Amino acid sequence: MVFQDLHRGPWEAQAQVHDLAEFARANGVKYFMISYTDLFGGQRAKLVPAQAISDMAVEGAGFAGFATWLDLTPAHADLMAIPDPSSVIQLPWKPEVAWVAATATMEGALVEQAPRNVLRRLIHEAAKEGLRVKTGVEPEFFILTADGKQCSDPLDTAVKPCYDQQAVMRRYDVIAEVCDYMLSLGWEAYQNDHEDAIGQFEMNWKYDDVLRTADKHSFFKFMMKSIAEKHGLRATFMPKPFQGLTGSGCHAHISVWDLDGRKNAFADDGKELGLSDQGRHFLGGIMKHASALAAITNPTVNSYKRINAPRTTSGATWAPNTVTWTGNNRTHMVRVPGPGRFELRLPDGAANPYLMQAVILAAGLDGVRTKADPGPRHDIDMYAHGYKVKNAPKLPLNLLDALRAYEKDKTLCSMMGEEFSKAYVKLKTDEWNAYCAHFSEWERQNTIDI
Ligand code: ADP
Ligand code: MG
Ligand code: MG
Ligand code: MG
Ligand code: MG
Repeated sequence: MVFQDLHRGPWEAQAQVHDLAEFARANGVKYFMISYTDLFGGQRAKLVPAQAISDMAVEGAGFAGFATWLDLTPAHADLMAIPDPSSVIQLPWKPEVAWVAATATMEGALVEQAPRNVLRRLIHEAAKEGLRVKTGVEPEFFILTADGKQCSDPLDTAVKPCYDQQAVMRRYDVIAEVCDYMLSLGWEAYQNDHEDAIGQFEMNWKYDDVLRTADKHSFFKFMMKSIAEKHGLRATFMPKPFQGLTGSGCHAHISVWDLDGRKNAFADDGKELGLSDQGRHFLGGIMKHASALAAITNPTVNSYKRINAPRTTSGATWAPNTVTWTGNNRTHMVRVPGPGRFELRLPDGAANPYLMQAVILAAGLDGVRTKADPGPRHDIDMYAHGYKVKNAPKLPLNLLDALRAYEKDKTLCSMMGEEFSKAYVKLKTDEWNAYCAHFSEWERQNTIDI
């Protein structure tokens, strides 16, 4: 099918699966979950019996796009989701089902606003310049009671609960089950820990080509939620579920390679912190577009309660407040932990796995094209001494500020795609307006006696 060939990038040479019907026969798959991700990060799927997959692989599975978070009307033609066989993952906890990410199309054309299409187009843009981006993500999440109201472990109460050995073992059944699945899928999972808030955890697997990381990240969220539910619990990636406790970030580690993926183009031992000129320019792009890209990496009303937050009960928020960078120091927006890569600490658990990678590529690519300079690094404790850094832009204080910064950043809007940008800003502004229309207890308490 023509859509499989569009935006074909260097990663696809490695794809092992080309024919889903054959994959079903070889692996005992009874159903495919043909899945696409909408603008808000929701995964939408149809369960298609293996007998019908060959037709679907050509025509796509039909969806009423308006019924999901895309800027479409009920009168639009069907969104046809054409499975991308290279993304297929058999559910380790239910092997008769396989998840497959789909390319969103409509009336024979790509749906430009669909997040995975946005990312694939940017990967193609980068490839035209000889760049192949590889990223790793660090999803943090809370394991709560099934109603989502509180930490599921009544003994998990420490003031500094990070790396708590007892607490992580009390959730061993859930964590080890998911880690075993990642290992069986060949993701090279390598560590799991209790994080800085009570009930909060993080699981890590190895970085990969950016599209694969985005697919794995989507699947990880689906898997983590599914396994938690199986154990009568609720996993949430909400950025700040509890006031006063550390929120859930989703840091991204970024490096850029040559097209055959062998040489890290960000690595240069002779340069500052081992970051090549190209790496420095890419970082310069991230710094330049930071306030605007927050609209994508921090996409919810709740996201802004994680960044710019007052100190948590554990002693630090571990989230950035300003647009600054440094070496191996976790109090800034960007950390360079070692040569040849950097870490963007801004994204949170609500970030759309495809859009967060897309906006990193867009900003970084613009940085490379314009030879952007990230400015001086500040090797200080930003939480304690941030006031000493003059002129460092503060990150947006709320979703509306971020959306306005995004709209104003014409370069970023056009690199992400005009159709996408218009759709995203429109739907997210509606969300902000819905939030403003909501009456809160805070208002009553602070206004009643005025
Ligand atoms: P930390 O908590 O110290 O920030 P983690 O070990 O939790 O780090 O996560 C690091 C992530 O960075 C992992 O996904 C890892 O595979 C990834 N990573 C390591 N090296 C690179 C690299 N060169 N390019 C992109 N990602 C990388
Ligand atoms: Mg119907
Ligand atoms: Mg980590
Ligand atoms: Mg962490
Ligand atoms: Mg990190």
